[in-house]
Amino acid sequence: MKPAAFEYLKPRDLPEAAAALGAEGSKLLGGGQSLGPMLNLRLARPSLLVDVSKLDSLRRIEETPDLWRIGGSVTHAQIEDRRGSLPGIEMMAEVAAGIAYRSVRNRGTIGGSLAHADPAADWPLALAVIDATVIASGKAGSRKIPADRFMIATFTTELKADEIIEAVEVPKLSASARTGYFKFCRKTGEFPEASAAIVLDGPRRVARLFIGALNGAPQSLPALAAAVAEKGMAAASKEAIVAALKAAAPELDAVGLRMHAGAVTRAISQAVGP
Ligand SMILES: Cc1cc2nc3c(=O)[nH]c(=O)nc-3n(C[C@H](O)[C@H](O)[C@H](O)COP(=O)(O)OP(=O)(O)OC[C@H]3O[C@@H](n4cnc5c(N)ncnc54)[C@H](O)[C@@H]3O)c2cc1C
Repeated sequence: MKPAAFEYLKPRDLPEAAAALGAEGSKLLGGGQSLGPMLNLRLARPSLLVDVSKLDSLRRIEETPDLWRIGGSVTHAQIEDRRGSLPGIEMMAEVAAGIAYRSVRNRGTIGGSLAHADPAADWPLALAVIDATVIASGKAGSRKIPADRFMIATFTTELKADEIIEAVEVPKLSASARTGYFKFCRKTGEFPEASAAIVLDGPRRVARLFIGALNGAPQSLPALAAAVAEKGMAAASKEAIVAALKAAAPELDAVGLRMHAGAVTRAISQAVGP
């Protein structure tokens, strides 16, 4: 199938994009990796596509003393290609490299992924566990939304209709921080059946453990994270992990529970294992 007819706008800057987004039937276009198929299947029928994928101001990766600011139209490939040169957030480059295939990563953007809010996607989980902040810009100005509260439910976020994800701010981890990220995929490059991520940053008093690929937003396992920060692998018994999973995601069936338990175990062992 082909998309229904639509107008196409390539704005020169963010204000022009925001103004165009106010029009009825308008929709942002990032890398088109999710929206493209939805247009072709006519699950989405916008009258105007506002293409922010080429906006220079949204394609930058910038460093400050405390954080990295990643523009909303930065592609997964741009982040992957910063392997070895993202001090404090190297985990992000590894996560990017594990998304789908290089052809998808060349076009798919971090902002498009967050806005699309697929529960199995990588960025909602990775940005939640690393305690990132989403910068949303609209007619009323810009506001900051914690990444772990940005996704409300499947394909639903905090973003208002006229808002654009301008950037994501990712705090730098200490040099001694340990991270783990693991996802179970049926085939390489496919969306996962279960995923888990952990960040332990003693000097910054951070212990965060989240699971993804659920029926909705990623969920936090705070007590297990704190126990692992204190006792290492000794806190990650099968019983402790299953109990934490049942509390965080009671909807998981027996298979989901086993797969997520496996993902949590692998993520923890990456961070604190031998
Ligand atoms: C074969 C295949 C395999 C994939 N596997 C994975 C995977 O393993 N893991 C994973 O995480 N992802 C995966 N993806 C998804 C992909 O990584 C894209 O990130 C995702 O499709 C959306 O990003 P996009 O830039 O293409 O957004 P688009 O498809 O262009 O847009 C998606 C939504 O975001 C909105 N949007 C776009 N940019 C912005 C912005 N700056 N601000 C606000 N709203 C915006 C659009 O209006 C639309 O609603 C896969 C995709 C494909 C096609």
